[in-house]
Amino acid sequence: MSLASEVAVLKAPCSNPVMRIVRLSPRVAEQIAAGEVIERPAAVVKELIENSLDAGATEISVVLEEGGKALIEVLDNGHGIAPEDLPLALARHATSKIKALEDLESLHTLGFRGEALASIGAVSRLEVLSHVQTSAQSLGPHRVRLDHSTQELSSPRPEPATFGHFLGKPHGTRIRVEGLFSQIPARLKFLKSAGSELSAVREWMERLALAHPQVGFQLRSDSKEVLNLRPQSEEDRVRMIVAEGEDFPLLSAESSAGQGLQLKVYWVQGMSLSHTRNLIQLVNGRALRDRLIQQAMLGPFRQALLPGKFPAACAFLTVDPREIDVNVHPTKTEIRFLEPRKLFIAFDEALGSLIHAHGSISYVGSSGHTQSSGFSQSDLMLGAAEKPHASHTTGAPAHGSLPVRHPALAPFTPGQFLGVLFRTYLAYDLGEELGLIDQHAAHERIRYEGLKKRALSRAASQDSQALLIPEVVRFEGGKESELETKLPLLRQLGFEAEIFGPGQLLFRASPPEWGTQDLRVRLSGLVDRLFSLERATKNPSNESLFLDEKLFEKLASEACRSSIRAGDRVEAWGANALIEQLSQCEHPWNCPHGRPTVARVPKARFEEWFQRTV
Ligand code: ADP
Ligand code: MG
Repeated sequence: MSLASEVAVLKAPCSNPVMRIVRLSPRVAEQIAAGEVIERPAAVVKELIENSLDAGATEISVVLEEGGKALIEVLDNGHGIAPEDLPLALARHATSKIKALEDLESLHTLGFRGEALASIGAVSRLEVLSHVQTSAQSLGPHRVRLDHSTQELSSPRPEPATFGHFLGKPHGTRIRVEGLFSQIPARLKFLKSAGSELSAVREWMERLALAHPQVGFQLRSDSKEVLNLRPQSEEDRVRMIVAEGEDFPLLSAESSAGQGLQLKVYWVQGMSLSHTRNLIQLVNGRALRDRLIQQAMLGPFRQALLPGKFPAACAFLTVDPREIDVNVHPTKTEIRFLEPRKLFIAFDEALGSLIHAHGSISYVGSSGHTQSSGFSQSDLMLGAAEKPHASHTTGAPAHGSLPVRHPALAPFTPGQFLGVLFRTYLAYDLGEELGLIDQHAAHERIRYEGLKKRALSRAASQDSQALLIPEVVRFEGGKESELETKLPLLRQLGFEAEIFGPGQLLFRASPPEWGTQDLRVRLSGLVDRLFSLERATKNPSNESLFLDEKLFEKLASEACRSSIRAGDRVEAWGANALIEQLSQCEHPWNCPHGRPTVARVPKARFEEWFQRTV
């Protein structure tokens, strides 16, 4: 193409006539609006189950054909919809759940936007059959249908008495969605295979089922049973879904970050996965996929899992409705927090204490595949250990079909030292288990903590180093006096800083330990952390201020370089010294980058290998 024609092409759009504005037909507008709420069968199922839960159902059954592309049917035994309300239920912006905007401040239902049924009806053939039974009189079940192409609604017709019951109750609702997107090729082509759509449906159902363990859930797909969850305790449901029925120890802890936010979190100790599907967030009974919550959940695992690995955990958050905005996304899968910091505090406290106390180490489970697992730090420690304030759940699950679990926390009082395997693993006979320690990972952890301690104490005691050119860090104007009160903390760490003008902090010197690489960015991160400190922790810790990503990496790689390696010779006395020092560590379970330091193999595995058990 010549330059001249290229220029002509570039100019072309500008020479177009001005486009005229036309009003979209209600049908097209409806379909476009539907696109925000409904993108695939899983979204339909989520909305319909939320409606069933809002209607107080104790049993919900979902039937799919072709992954929901041909048919989605949701049946519940909730309170039902009165015949005269049926047309309204299908209208956009019609809801029985709120009346005014202020009602969002005290919302106790999952729905409130009044657009799910209307949206579903815009992109499929929709039929609603429902029955309300009051003590006075019953009009019997009624049914409405929405005509797909004309969007006309049939008037509610009584259903012949042949319709039996709604999952054991005389009242309830059945919603059928046929041919989702069949008339909208542009949307249809984005649907995946029936199998992928089914797994997405199942994932959302499981999340909602976790939030409502007292409710029974069934899922059938192309006449095969996929899920059948009977009403059960919260813990059992977590074990079934988050731990996938495997016999990992299930630990739990609670915390509250001030008023208005309570957290109960379950952690499937030792399950490490390469995806985030088993990281579940439930807020006030609502299943979410919120980026910020995920970030807060993963924070405490920073040093406990390798990069790219994710834990299995389920968070039940109870938040004062006034502290959140649930109306930020049409699918209601994200929310906004008034004070996001509280989230981080709560997760740091609850999950942080569990990880600190129990660690995540490798464990050879019953199915023979390696699982990372753990035992308590107090078991590893030779001396007396502080009691973690987290509670861990013990005891066999009530549900009969669940496998029996291994004891969660077996003792690791260093037993008899057996020798070194493959010139890498220190082996101990623990009586009922074989204990293994990775000599490099363990030493790395010991060295890292030593280096960290040294860096902190040097920063506090050594002279700070004047900067060649002072650095100015900007902060939010008006916060000068708040910052002023926190400056002594920086001084303790070897920084010299003063408020320079509105919203400006001038750094004249920094501790030599910090180095000068990327200084400006790092100082600005330091100021951010300083601002968030007091609200985050009751006793501001110098460590969390001082230790940024850069310094962490520097110390971790120094620790790695100066540690004994795999293949290096370790004698018995060295092995004992290593385990002794490891047990003094703050976080003995992993090397700084998250690789496990300890593994254990139960005696039962050996018996399996040698077929002593039948
Ligand atoms: P929203 O849930 O936001 O109110 P929907 O479009 O999902 O909006 O539902 C509209 C209305 O229809 C609800 O407010 C409720 O009154 C009624 N409804 C829908 N599904 C059910 C159901 N399964 N049981 C009882 N009522 C229902
Ligand atoms: Mg709804």
